Amino acid sequence: MNNYSHILRNLKLKVTPKRLEILNILGKRRYFMSPEEIWKEMKIKFKKIGLPTVYRNLEEMAEGGVIFRVIHTDRQLYYYLCNNKNHHHHFVCLSCKRVYDIDYCPEIKIVEFVREILKGSIISHLFQVNGFCSNCLNKDQGVIVKNNEI
Ligand SMILES: [Zn+2]
Ligand SMILES: [Zn+2]
Ligand SMILES: [Zn+2]
Repeated sequence: MNNYSHILRNLKLKVTPKRLEILNILGKRRYFMSPEEIWKEMKIKFKKIGLPTVYRNLEEMAEGGVIFRVIHTDRQLYYYLCNNKNHHHHFVCLSCKRVYDIDYCPEIKIVEFVREILKGSIISHLFQVNGFCSNCLNKDQGVIVKNNEI
């Protein structure tokens, strides 16, 4: 808990019990969650909390770089808390929702392309890879693997 307060303060975001609880819920998982799933768990502690409040806090923390937005092919927005502080990207499993870090950034190649072919310059980039993880691929072949757990 204190750790999350520290992160919020460092990013100049107000530390509130609701934000801490969201981070606590997301921090327990290695997979992404929908605002509705987070809301359901939030209601255990904050009985009267509305879904818009959860949405707002998630967006504020995503904007502040505390949590990641996951762009899903179903066009719903999901969120993920990652402890890896280095610049990296995510491989997202569309079956078990697990998120894996990719410690590789394709920016250098893209910078060359933008500079030389497009004659432009890059300010920022978004890069996320969607697919199926090896656990889910193996499961399809008849091997039972437990997912959604750390
Ligand atoms: Zn998977
Ligand atoms: Zn990560
Ligand atoms: Zn990158």
